[in-house]
Amino acid sequence: MTQRKAAGWKPRTNAVHAGARRSQYGEMAEAIYLTQGFAYPSAEAAEARFIKAGPDEFIYARYGNPTVAAFEDRIAALEGTEDAFATASGMAAVSGALSAMLKAGDHVVSARALFGSCLYVLEEVLTRFGVEVSFVDGTDLDAWRAAIRPGTKAVFLESVSNPTLEVIDLRAVAALAHDAGALVLVDNVFATPVFSHAVDLGADVVIYSATKHIDGQGRCLGGVVCGTREFIRGTLEPYMKHTGGAMSPFNAWVLLNGITTMDLRVRAQAAAAQRLAEALEGHAALSRVLFPGLASHPQHALAMEQAGGGGTVIAFDIRGGKEAAFRFLNTLEIVLISNNLGDARTIATHPATTTHQRLPEDQKVLLGISPGLIRLSVGLEDPDDLLSDLLAALAASNS
Ligand SMILES: *Cc1c(COP(=O)(O)O)cnc(C)c1O
Repeated sequence: MTQRKAAGWKPRTNAVHAGARRSQYGEMAEAIYLTQGFAYPSAEAAEARFIKAGPDEFIYARYGNPTVAAFEDRIAALEGTEDAFATASGMAAVSGALSAMLKAGDHVVSARALFGSCLYVLEEVLTRFGVEVSFVDGTDLDAWRAAIRPGTKAVFLESVSNPTLEVIDLRAVAALAHDAGALVLVDNVFATPVFSHAVDLGADVVIYSATKHIDGQGRCLGGVVCGTREFIRGTLEPYMKHTGGAMSPFNAWVLLNGITTMDLRVRAQAAAAQRLAEALEGHAALSRVLFPGLASHPQHALAMEQAGGGGTVIAFDIRGGKEAAFRFLNTLEIVLISNNLGDARTIATHPATTTHQRLPEDQKVLLGISPGLIRLSVGLEDPDDLLSDLLAALAASNS
């Protein structure tokens, strides 16, 4: 088996070639090594591999597999980290990264505006094991400064929050965290691997749900943690390999192919999102349009500096609350009602009754998850068709 090493390639070249392994057959598409285990040529070879596995020597698919390794190498090359570990889902990546490095008595500071399951892990799971978690308004640097203290072990944040698209000043938060000796873990789904500069801005660990833009076609779950070799192999791998959150080789193969086209897809989706946000802003049926690419967004300048654009997701508030929002959703013809994002199909979500249903009312108010709020993940359809669909549904929303 020969492996293609990324050698100073630019991101689009890495996305197509980095990490690819070719067998003696020289196959073009990456092979799917759909195998749980590996046979050793001798008892001595088995013993040696358990003492120390060399490069591209595998023991058991819960620890590593050639197709999964290709996926890990490709995403690490894109993100600019030394290594990466692939997981069964985005949540396996988030919970694994945090659990692997924390113990009872440790202190974590986290932004409050988080994906629901991330909030559950920090608020309900880690605290059960004696980890102290302080939540702050992620856009308030004074709040971060007040909460981070000497000895704080980790800082966790979504660089762009879900669903209200607040942008966090990653460089400033990372500087505060590093002064205190804390590691910075970033859930970077909304920034996407295409527009990410998380490592340059100071992130130590960058986490993706590969279910989102990396697949981008709504086919399979996956996650990945990117970081230094020390964190990935020294801290994370022992935890993951014994607790069982490994990515399936089949999913790794699907996701490798996803990465190959991700740059084109995500740039087209981001351009369409920008166009739609501009067209929707000021619409009479909407009380607000939240999109980091709009000059009216409170962190617009920061979004442009950190990510070079607004991303692929828009949020807007429909006048008339839940009933109007439901009329809007039920009138859509092209846009699908669902809860994924980053997909080639445009998806509308009503966070208050679905992804964030579990949150108590006061938390919803605090996070801006109002009854009329819609999250729109912009796909690859013709933006003119999408705009017509959205305008027709908005017209129906207050009828
Ligand atoms: C979807 C998502 C996750 C969880 O990913 P899964 O692959 O669904 O487990 C975590 N964080 C963010 C920001 C997400 O959008």
